[in-house]
Amino acid sequence: LNEMKNKHITVLGLGVTGLGIVRFLLSHNITPTIADSRLSPPGIDWLNLHAPQLSTQFGDLNNAELNTQDIIIISPGLSLSTPAVAEAIAAGVEVIGDIELFARLNDKPVIAVTGSNGKSTVVTLAFDVLKTAGYKVGLGGNIGTAVLDLLVGDFDVFVLELSSFQLDTTKSLKPISATVLNVSEDHLDRYVNYQAYIDSKQTIYSHAALAVVNKNDVATHCDINPQVSFALSNADYCLSTYYGELYFCAHGKAVLPVSSLGVVGSHNQLNALSVMALLQPLEVPVDQFAKAFSAFRGLAHRCQFVAEQDGVKYFNDSKATNVGATIAAIDSLAEQAKQLIVIAGGDAKGADLGALKPYLQDKVKALICFGKDANVLVALTDKGRLTENMPQAVSLAKTLAETGDYVLLAPACASIDMYSNYMQRGDHFSECVKAGEQ
Ligand code: ADP
Repeated sequence: LNEMKNKHITVLGLGVTGLGIVRFLLSHNITPTIADSRLSPPGIDWLNLHAPQLSTQFGDLNNAELNTQDIIIISPGLSLSTPAVAEAIAAGVEVIGDIELFARLNDKPVIAVTGSNGKSTVVTLAFDVLKTAGYKVGLGGNIGTAVLDLLVGDFDVFVLELSSFQLDTTKSLKPISATVLNVSEDHLDRYVNYQAYIDSKQTIYSHAALAVVNKNDVATHCDINPQVSFALSNADYCLSTYYGELYFCAHGKAVLPVSSLGVVGSHNQLNALSVMALLQPLEVPVDQFAKAFSAFRGLAHRCQFVAEQDGVKYFNDSKATNVGATIAAIDSLAEQAKQLIVIAGGDAKGADLGALKPYLQDKVKALICFGKDANVLVALTDKGRLTENMPQAVSLAKTLAETGDYVLLAPACASIDMYSNYMQRGDHFSECVKAGEQ
């Protein structure tokens, strides 16, 4: 940190992460310049109030003189291929993220999780298990507290959720265990192609002491040693039946009955297996897993039960912002529903939605769509119905649903064409569902 005091540092992007970085640097007497492509970025009020002395460049990044800096600390919202940033990198400027800064300063064990889907669920369950077992756990990264704020806390171990954007600017992280949970098409608006997205996720393994791979997803495989695998069957961590009951198993030994997990669906069983594998180095006692697994109720907007009306159950999976997540949700709920009606649509971010086709064919009674890429979705199936918005979609779902059916919001797309974020979309769904209730 002392070295940084004499360097020209620009914090690029003044959102939640950017503000966390600014606060951290100021608390260590390091004075950065602030730049953002927006004329009035979200953190501007805080800055005017608490650090009006800092020089700023808002608007056109070409005016921010990025290529004359020593270090740029960039927010994950900004792409490294932004022309002014790419130019700075070419000019030899070091571009890092807040996770990299954290990694250079932290000496506590880190468990690191990335993947297209299930990250938040996995880190939250890992956090719960460790907390139950008496650890002081810091949970952060793409979830919860900004990592630099975690550094000053009194923690024994950190559990980090890392997006591919965060990994792109991190190279020194040395986790005690790390996983790429799964990879499916997402964020193709930010990567030159799918392989580049996979490569980005794979960097999480670079200095990992234990790699945790998904046996059935080759994009998560690596040649790091030691490594353990998880899968529903035939893996180091998998499910097996003993005396008629299904168990979570580790290295061939039954550990806990699957029925003890507080959330349903095979995707959540995979998530639980990955947590067991990730925590292997800490040797957490089985009874602590049992306590945390049975208390776990999942996160909001992930296959979350909303209401039951006239024998029809409604589920909000607004966080299914890509194809892989929507498939997992359809797979899990179709097992239990008489018939399944899916509401989808939004901004597909350039992804190929075709992988949904067989699931729509075999497991879905109707697909109701709205939003930017609704047309593409509707064209995937002869069960597709086009609507204008959420209230219309929910009202059509209510008309089509019969006793025993489930209605699932699992958009396979981002929400940004019509909502501020997936939470707002999920809340709107719940409101529309409940609107008719007495
Ligand atoms: P992330 O933080 O990676 O977005 P979440 O835990 O928030 O992951 O879940 C996001 C979405 O992915 C949810 O809609 C959920 O239904 C789905 N999902 C959760 N776990 C998995 C998994 N293991 N495989 C595929 N989809 C999953």
